[in-house]
This record gives sequence, C-alpha cells and structure tokens, in this order.
Amino acid sequence: MHLTIHRGTKEIGGSCVELKTSNSRLLIDLGMPLVNKKGGPFDSKILENKSLNELKELKLLPGITGLYKDEVKTTDAILISHSHLDHYGFLKYVHSDIPIYMSEGAKQLIKISDIFTPNKVGPINAKVVDKDKRVKIGDFVIIPYLVDHSAFDARAFLIEVEGKRLFYSGDFRGHGRKSILFKDMVNNPPKGIDCLLMEGSMLGRDKPDISAIDVIGIGSGVVDRLNELDYKVAGVNVGESPTSDEDKKKYECRIFWSNQDGGWISHSLNTDQIGVGSTPVKALKDMQKGVDAVFALAAEDETIQPWRKAPVLEQYGEIF
Ligand SMILES: [Zn+2]
Repeated sequence: MHLTIHRGTKEIGGSCVELKTSNSRLLIDLGMPLVNKKGGPFDSKILENKSLNELKELKLLPGITGLYKDEVKTTDAILISHSHLDHYGFLKYVHSDIPIYMSEGAKQLIKISDIFTPNKVGPINAKVVDKDKRVKIGDFVIIPYLVDHSAFDARAFLIEVEGKRLFYSGDFRGHGRKSILFKDMVNNPPKGIDCLLMEGSMLGRDKPDISAIDVIGIGSGVVDRLNELDYKVAGVNVGESPTSDEDKKKYECRIFWSNQDGGWISHSLNTDQIGVGSTPVKALKDMQKGVDAVFALAAEDETIQPWRKAPVLEQYGEIF
C-alpha cells in the first residue's frame, strides 16, 4: 500500500490523504485549507471564477489524478471524517461517479451548511457509513468509529489493506458531551495498528479557555475555584481590595497557562508586568509584586514610566 499525505503535514486543515494499492485507490478527507502558503488565513475567494485546470496549476487543489470532474475516474471512493469545511470543502470538484462515504450526521450537516456558507459543495454522491459497520471498497476494508468532536457524528476510520492496519483518527476531543468515546478508545484502542494518522491542532496552545473578571477583592477565590475545575483562566482583576480606579487599572491582568513555560502566567494589561507561578494565584501575586516595584521606582525616578500597555493584548482576545 502507498500512502500519500497531500495536505495536513505542515498546517492545520485542508486534510487530504491518499491510499493506493495496485488495484484500488481511496481518499480520506478532501478539505479546504485554513491557511495559505504564507501561513495567513486562507481566503476562499481565490477559488472563484477559476477552471479546474487553473486550480490544479496553482496547486490549490491536491495533485491527484483521476479524482476531478474533468478527468477519467480512477479513484474508487472518498471517506469524509466529519462535516467541517477543512475536511470536506473541495468535494464540489470531485467526479460525480466517485462515492463519498460519511456518517448520516455529516451528510445532513453538509447539506444544511450549504444553505448558509458561501463555500457550497452542491449535490454530492454521498453514501452513509454506520459506526462499527465494515465497508469493503476494492482492496480496502473500512471500519468506521464514532468519535466526539464539535462536528456532530464524526468518524475515525480503521482501514485494513494488504495485511496492514491504518488508523485515521479524524478530529476528536476529550472533553465534549461524548467524551466517554475518547476514554473508551484510550482504554481499549484498536490492536495491531501499523500506521496512525492523527492531527494535533490544539496541542500546546497557550490561549486561555475562559476569561473571568473579578472586580473587588475576591479575585483569588474565583481563580482558585476555576483552577480546581481545570480551567485555564484569563482576565482577572486582582488586588486585595482596590480602593481606587487607578489601583484596579494597575493590577488588571490576563492569566493563562503556558505549555512553553510549564506554568501559569499573569500579565498586567496596563503596566506590562509578568508574573509566573505554579498556580494562578501565585502568578498573580508575583505579578503584583512586580507592578508595585515599578511604581515604587517611578516615585523616586521620574524617567521611569510605570504605565505601559501590554503589547500582546490583541492575541488574548476580548476582555469582558
Ligand atoms: Zn473538525
């Protein structure tokens, strides 16, 4: 079996994997990219008013022969893991004789999404694969798994071919309403896998899960409670009891977990001081100490400017 990852090794989204034997050819996902070649956001307007040939020449479409509408069909089937555009968005270019296997939920969601999205795929040759039900396509035997993801009724695929077993996880999460599926998979994974294909788009992200704000005094308690609940917290106003607006402004900060630093970071938004610690509260206290030190220095030395906007504010998103 030959395996080609057409897109998805260096970027998030636009996933497309090709599996080939001497007799059969299978594609897993055919997504629209999320990022362009420069790493910026992908603008789907670039696809408009272009012929299939132009799209292939510009390498916007993966270079797969026997897949597209203007070619002689040599692809046996496409498996779609779930109904997110970065996994199915290019289906409209596919030869209409190629069956496209997906869950019932994905089929319905793609149909409904087409009403709202400018990136329509139009009518597609969709075939439903039930979870745990084997499907044979040429040399391939496919066993679909139900996984928990923000796209309803998502699938992972176990594929057996020429004595090898490949597992394509698709997108999944461990914290959704169906996280039991994730736990079951971890506790009882499919055996004898030769190749595991998995995306890791949310591994190591520093962005906080939630923002929280506390106005007077109880900041530490709020943060502690959220921390106990395993949230990564951002945006807490600290201070034992800020007596003035100026005090509040001094200690207003964002708190987040940093994988890179292996600790909690507290970043004051208006004085640009950083505090670190093993708990959010320790990070807050550390930051507060730094802020106080800067203001103490500024009282003695007029060349020191204690107020400074945190330059990374935008990357934390909106504060509420
Ligand atoms: Zn997804």
